Amino acid sequence: MTKPALIPHEVILVDRIPQCDFCSRPGPYDFALRGGGWAHGCMEHYQSLRAASTLGTGKGQLWVTQAQLDGNAPFEA
Ligand SMILES: [Zn+2]
Repeated sequence: MTKPALIPHEVILVDRIPQCDFCSRPGPYDFALRGGGWAHGCMEHYQSLRAASTLGTGKGQLWVTQAQLDGNAPFEA
């Protein structure tokens, strides 16, 4: 199982992963939208709707849980 690693301003630790704002999958990306505003999204919607191609301050973050860092929960991003 793939395990994420924390990266300041890019991959951050949270208590739970919200649902994607555009479908029923988990939405671990918190990102700036191309048309303005921010959203939570799955990888597919993050890649198709994001304003910036990389993570970072003002662009987007990938949220992960402690269980994912420990390898005890699925991580698909
Ligand atoms: Zn989605």
